[in-house]
Amino acid sequence: MALTGIEIFKMLPKTNCKECGFPTCLAFAMALASGKAELAACPYVSEEVREKLAEASAPPIRPVKIGMKEGEKVIGGELVMFRHEKTFFNPPLIAGLLTTAMSDADVDAQIDAFNKMQYERVGLMLRPEMFAVKDMGDAGKFAALAKKVADKSDAAIMLMSDNVDAMKAAAEAVKDRKPLLYAATAANADGMGALAKELGLPLAAKADGYDALAELTTKLTGLGLKDLVLDSGARTIKQAFQDQVVIRRAALGPKFRPFGFPTVTFPCEMTDDPMKEVLYAATFISKYGGIVVLSSLEPHRVFPLLLQRLNIYTDPQKPMIVTPGIYPINNPDENSPICITTNFALTYFIVSGEIEGSKVPTWLLIMDTEGLSVMTAWAAGKFVGDAVGMFVKKCGITDKAKNRTLIIPGYAAAISGDLEEELPDWKILIGPREASHIPAFLKAQ
Ligand code: SF4
Repeated sequence: MALTGIEIFKMLPKTNCKECGFPTCLAFAMALASGKAELAACPYVSEEVREKLAEASAPPIRPVKIGMKEGEKVIGGELVMFRHEKTFFNPPLIAGLLTTAMSDADVDAQIDAFNKMQYERVGLMLRPEMFAVKDMGDAGKFAALAKKVADKSDAAIMLMSDNVDAMKAAAEAVKDRKPLLYAATAANADGMGALAKELGLPLAAKADGYDALAELTTKLTGLGLKDLVLDSGARTIKQAFQDQVVIRRAALGPKFRPFGFPTVTFPCEMTDDPMKEVLYAATFISKYGGIVVLSSLEPHRVFPLLLQRLNIYTDPQKPMIVTPGIYPINNPDENSPICITTNFALTYFIVSGEIEGSKVPTWLLIMDTEGLSVMTAWAAGKFVGDAVGMFVKKCGITDKAKNRTLIIPGYAAAISGDLEEELPDWKILIGPREASHIPAFLKAQ
């Protein structure tokens, strides 16, 4: 049973030393009770109290680690229903399905596609992370397929079988990868639970309906298992979506421990329509899948999901920024045009992409506006004539280029007068408002 903030406060040292990052022990106790702080932040809690508080201070949704070749991925560990309340921490893993019924050529093609599927955006590498390896009734093939995936890719692995013996053979073949075992059911819970415990691996629990799922996870935690992943069994988008919301709400609100685990979702089993499958996957990336399994990994289906996931799992309270400075694009020389914009990462990403696509050699100046976009920075007084002028003088572009024409964003047209006064040797050109018009604009210069 979770403790209240006041109950936790009574057990703290009450010295208000602030070392935990909170102004008082009471504030720390309240944050601990709501899952917004960790007990380890207070170094003065006695061992006895630490044990008592362990339950109260445990995260409402347990972070579960699943291994990759290098390191591990964490799912779960979320503290809020909506990202604007705080942020979401651990992006869902995007998985491709491989079955023992697939031909070797198809399996090789999927592994090859997985290995090549990497996209760099805003300084981050986006990619799917997992393969779901499914047993279709042949234990030998199942273990061999799991081993092949482990040998030929760095993917996290989810092993899917109802058969405890088949699961044991496959899990032992790839146990160094720390795969997720899927799934314990009411029928095999003892065997699967014992196997997961013996090998120290995370285990998925699958049951139809909330009561059955709660009963199953209670049984598994009673066996000593801590790292569980939930499957509510629903295979229609409506029910599965509802289940995600109910499970998240139950875990965060009343701190219903049997649902305090991340979930796994299967858009691949909900439709035969590839486009619908992507839409369903997008639904679970938004709310609240811990793993999203697709029937296959193809760039045109995975890429939009990676971008969606990137957007949802960035901290809404911290703007994404790029380093201010001079960015040469398409090998510019001293006569190449010079553009300027803000260091909001998405602005940089879109503008630099359009310039690159134009093939026009260009200098792109990125000014520090604390991550604000052009219009917001202008409204906040951070992208105004004197500030931009000062940056252009100091950034070093005059050492690299003889050209003295500065192209400013169309949305910042209002600063052109002030900028001309600040940079009397420069010609100020107002660029397009829409980034998509940049290539035509540059070619016309
Ligand atoms: Fe209180 Fe511990 Fe925080 Fe110090 S570190 S203010 S003793 S809770």
